[in-house]
Amino acid sequence: MRYQSAMDAQRYKQSKLVAASKYSIPHRKTPLDLEIHASEFQSELIAASFDCGLQNVTISEDMETFCIIDRRRNNRWYMVEYDKNEKMAACSCKMFETEDILCRHCLWMFKEKEFKSLPTFYIISRWQKNAMSIPIFDLGGNLIEETSKMDEVKKKVGDLWAEIFSCLSLAKKNEESLDEFIDVIKTFK
Ligand SMILES: [Zn+2]
Repeated sequence: MRYQSAMDAQRYKQSKLVAASKYSIPHRKTPLDLEIHASEFQSELIAASFDCGLQNVTISEDMETFCIIDRRRNNRWYMVEYDKNEKMAACSCKMFETEDILCRHCLWMFKEKEFKSLPTFYIISRWQKNAMSIPIFDLGGNLIEETSKMDEVKKKVGDLWAEIFSCLSLAKKNEESLDEFIDVIKTFK
């Protein structure tokens, strides 16, 4: 019986290694950067399926907080905060904010929730960020941002979105805070 389970464990380990080597270096079919992005996304999706698991979950009225263990990263824990109303998730690894790729921890959660597709924000956001990779001119037509500086700007935009969504999820718990938040945002126009 013990022999049997040891064999099973070995078989399982073997099949995981085969799957990992099969998918870790996807064969490129085009020279497009888009394909690199897609393959990075694919490897996160595979990690979500094989290497992540739930440690615990805390549920409140508007939020669910998942503590997710990542076996591919020495069993480190990551916190995914899911806003039930907005259907948005933010992870403590901040991969989406910094690299434009939705991390395995958020993907794990969307998979467990049986989402058939990702919320549009994660797709639209990518295009918004891409749209910014052109030089910015002021109203007089003077160049104010070179394309070379755009990576820094893109990162800041990602950070800003994360801050806005975090403030929004806190503010909407009462109407007064929500009004205050709207007023503050309007002052930036
Ligand atoms: Zn993550």
